[in-house]
Amino acid sequence: MTSAEIHHDPDAVPSTARGVLTVDLGAIAANWRWLAALSGPAECAGVLKADAYGLGLEPVAKALDGAGCRTFFVATTGEAGRLKAALPAAMVYIFDGLMPGTAHEIARIGAIPVLGSRAEVEEWVAYCRSVETRLPAALHLDTGMSRLGVPPGEVEELGRDRDLFQAFDLRLVISHLACADTPGHPTSDAQRLLFDQLRRALPPARASLANSAGIMLGSAFRYDLVRPGIALYGGRAVAGRPNPAAKVVRLEARILQVRDLPAGTAVGYGSAFVTDRSSRIATIATGYADGFLRSISGPIGLPSPPATIAGHSAPIVGRVSMDVITLDVTDVPAEFVHRGAFAELIGRHVLIDDLADSSGTIGYEVLTRLGDRYHRMYVGGGEKRTAG
Ligand SMILES: *Cc1c(COP(=O)(O)O)cnc(C)c1O
Repeated sequence: MTSAEIHHDPDAVPSTARGVLTVDLGAIAANWRWLAALSGPAECAGVLKADAYGLGLEPVAKALDGAGCRTFFVATTGEAGRLKAALPAAMVYIFDGLMPGTAHEIARIGAIPVLGSRAEVEEWVAYCRSVETRLPAALHLDTGMSRLGVPPGEVEELGRDRDLFQAFDLRLVISHLACADTPGHPTSDAQRLLFDQLRRALPPARASLANSAGIMLGSAFRYDLVRPGIALYGGRAVAGRPNPAAKVVRLEARILQVRDLPAGTAVGYGSAFVTDRSSRIATIATGYADGFLRSISGPIGLPSPPATIAGHSAPIVGRVSMDVITLDVTDVPAEFVHRGAFAELIGRHVLIDDLADSSGTIGYEVLTRLGDRYHRMYVGGGEKRTAG
C-alpha cells in the first residue's frame, strides 16, 4: 500500500507551537479497510486503548466509524466513556474487565466488560440480576500469556455453571496471542488449539483471537472478529518483514538555536558528543519529556536514524535532554537551517519502528509516549481539525 505524503498547512501552525504531530486520519481509515478486506468474512474491529495509541481517541474513532468500523476495544472504563460520548452507537469492549464496584458505571455508559475471572463473572451476574437485565459481556480466556483471562484449568468448571451464563449475554469469547509477531512461532498454534478446546466447554458465542500480527498468521486465526491496533496506526505488526500499512504519523520540531562550533567542542550532557570537524549544530524543541526517548542516545539498539530538514539528513548527536535534542546540520544547505524552521523526526524518511529499533523499544511505546506538548493536526479526515 502506498501512502500520500502527510502534509499540513504550514500557515495553520501557531507561532508558539514548538513541535507538530500530524496524524493522517485518511491513512488510518485506509489501513482499517485493508485489514477488513484481508480478514473478511471476519468482522474487523479497532483497538483504541491509550488514547488510540497516543494519536487521539475521538478523531481516530470518528475516522474508523466513517470507514465502517462498528466494534471497538479500549483498556479502561474512562476511555470507554469518552468513546461512547463520541460514537453513541459503537460497540465498546473494555479489556480491563470488571474492576470491583464498576459494574454500574460500565452499564451506565453502555460499554461491555471483557470478564477475565470467575470473580468478575460472578460480580457481573450479580449486577445483571439486581437490575433484572441480561447485560452483554465478553469472556477472556488465558491460552498462554498468564496475564489476563480465565486460567485454562478453570474454564471447564466455569462452563458447567450454566446459571451464570443464563444471567448475562455472552457476546464474545476472546484470547490474546503472545508470540504472533514472530511468524512460525509454535506458541501461536498451541494457543489456537487450546482456544478451540476451551471454547467447547462454554455456551456458543462469537470468538476473537487475532491482534494485528495474528491477522497475518492466516484465516485460521481470524475467527469471527479481529482486533487490530498497531497496524491501523501504521506500525509494524510482524518483525522482519516489509510493513505494508500506510504511514499515519509525521513528527516535526522547531529549531530553537543554530551555532557554528570548531572541531573538538563538546555538545550536551555528559559531553557525550564532541565535534570532529568544524560543525554547525541546531538545537531542536523536542526531548524525552515529549516522548523522544533518551535511550536513542544510549548504547541500546541500532544507530539512531537522522532527522531531516527540507529533505536533507541531519544526524542526532549528543544526549537527548528533557526538552531539546541537538542535530548536526553541517551538511544541510544553510538556507533551510534557521531559527523557527522545522526538522522532521518521524515521517517520510524515518518510520515509528526505525525510531523504536534505535531506542531499544517497540513502535507501540514510541507512539503512546508522544506527549501533549506537540501541536496536533489531523489531516485526511474529510474535514480539517486541529487541536492543542
Ligand atoms: C492491544 C491489544 C490488541 C491490539 O494489538 P496490536 O498488536 O496493537 O494489534 C488486541 N487484543 C488485546 C487483548 C490487546 O491488549
